[in-house]
Amino acid sequence: MAINWTEAQIEQIVASVMKGLKADAPISKCEYNGEGYNGKKYIGVYSDMNDAIDAAEQGYKAIRAMSLEEREKVISIIRDLCRKEAHIMAELGVSETKMGRVDHKTAKHMLVADKTPGTSDIQAQVKTGDYGLTLTEMAPFGVVGSITPSTNPSETVICNSIGMIAAGNGVVFNPHPNAIATSNYAVDLINRASAMAGGPRVLVSSVIKPTLDTANIMYKDPRIKLLVCTGGPGVVKSVLSSGKKAIGAGAGNPPVIVDDTADIKKAGKDIIDGCTFDNNLPCIAEKEVFAFNNIADELIDAMKANGAYLITREQADKLASIVLVEKTNPKTGIKSKIVNRDCVGRDARVLLEKIGINVCDKIRCIICETDFNHDFVQHELMMPILPIVRVKNIDEAIDLAVKAEHGNRHTAHMHSKNIDNLTRFARAVETTIFVKNAPSYAGIGFGGEGHTTFTIAGPTGEGITSAKSFTRLRRCVLSESFRII
Ligand code: NAD
Repeated sequence: MAINWTEAQIEQIVASVMKGLKADAPISKCEYNGEGYNGKKYIGVYSDMNDAIDAAEQGYKAIRAMSLEEREKVISIIRDLCRKEAHIMAELGVSETKMGRVDHKTAKHMLVADKTPGTSDIQAQVKTGDYGLTLTEMAPFGVVGSITPSTNPSETVICNSIGMIAAGNGVVFNPHPNAIATSNYAVDLINRASAMAGGPRVLVSSVIKPTLDTANIMYKDPRIKLLVCTGGPGVVKSVLSSGKKAIGAGAGNPPVIVDDTADIKKAGKDIIDGCTFDNNLPCIAEKEVFAFNNIADELIDAMKANGAYLITREQADKLASIVLVEKTNPKTGIKSKIVNRDCVGRDARVLLEKIGINVCDKIRCIICETDFNHDFVQHELMMPILPIVRVKNIDEAIDLAVKAEHGNRHTAHMHSKNIDNLTRFARAVETTIFVKNAPSYAGIGFGGEGHTTFTIAGPTGEGITSAKSFTRLRRCVLSESFRII
């Protein structure tokens, strides 16, 4: 594979691709006909999942033949295209899913481009001793089947692709049915990057109409060696029951504790910034607050000064009856409440209108005081609605926050300067991500140290996934040689 593009050539190619995509056309005019966007056919997107798996298998063969340098070249062009087309994907995502915010989705793509680890994440280990040398290498699994959500659709496709390609795998996606155009745009982007780097025209693949049936074909195909699932509890359970090696990145309901040693003004701003990021779609975003009684008023004032609108308990109950709907399980007849999809990821202003309150665009979050049992505390809403529960002390705060997290072991946050309190909560809640004194997104490298991911694998333990999460360890032993000391 010859790779010899100069920076100027890449710029030129990207410009022509953007022109071909009619990047300037408003998204309201976007036409997704199942196969492409604005008249351009997506590359690597098939009507039959079996064909998509065939293509991913060919992609895997091509990746296996690439040197690390060649893989890194593909990844570097993916990063480049992701930065340049971040705004297009952000607009397309909002337009298609009706969720989230274009400016924040753009920032999420930039984050993926800048902070998703590439091949440097794949490090071999060596042990030498009296008996010679043993090498442990991180090998690809083969073809990965990746199920992706509607909340971060193109972000997850690109982030997973970078890590999976860096690790030497092929990938076939079964994207969320509500975000097909956006997810498959990202699949096309990866394939354009591959072609620009001199790699195969189809490196990763997907299907035009993903369904549970296409997911099942993926689960059963013997060529798929690893399943990676990013989504809610139902889909994580289904991949973990597939009988295959699976990585599950599931739901969260991140609590925040604010104690009376915290910088309350900063805590109020940080919590609203984190909670409203992409209208609360990220699974790590603040979902409920437990505030010490003696600082709760000051915290609420700080939140109001940063775009929060305080509603009464009565108004909160009215809003809860709209944003949550009752569902009856057809098998058991048991009734439960689920989020109203029409409200997920909507602007605070739009949600307030539903209970007859009109506010300006500066209002970005709805806050309310509730008790612990309120639906807003118990359900993962993924909307800019933040319930605040007053607590007497740290014991009560930790007890309730751990219960509200529901054992997801996903993400929790705390604003405090008391090291004992911070340590106690972190130990008790056992989450994959624990953010201290910052907005939630610091936990995925946005204004915080460390790499990023949009696949946070709590249930299966890989944590903040990266290329090495998608590898299997292989050992090579050379007896009685190569120890040179
Ligand atoms: P979702 O659970 O509705 O869907 C996720 C994907 O799974 C979709 O592609 C969907 O079509 C598919 N799917 C659903 N049920 C399935 C089944 N039984 N078999 C096969 N496929 C199935 O997810 P969503 O609403 O788009 O995303 C929101 C949820 O995902 C939230 O709970 C959020 O916390 C979680 N999430 C977690 C992470 C993480 O990294 N841990 C990241 C993003 C979202």
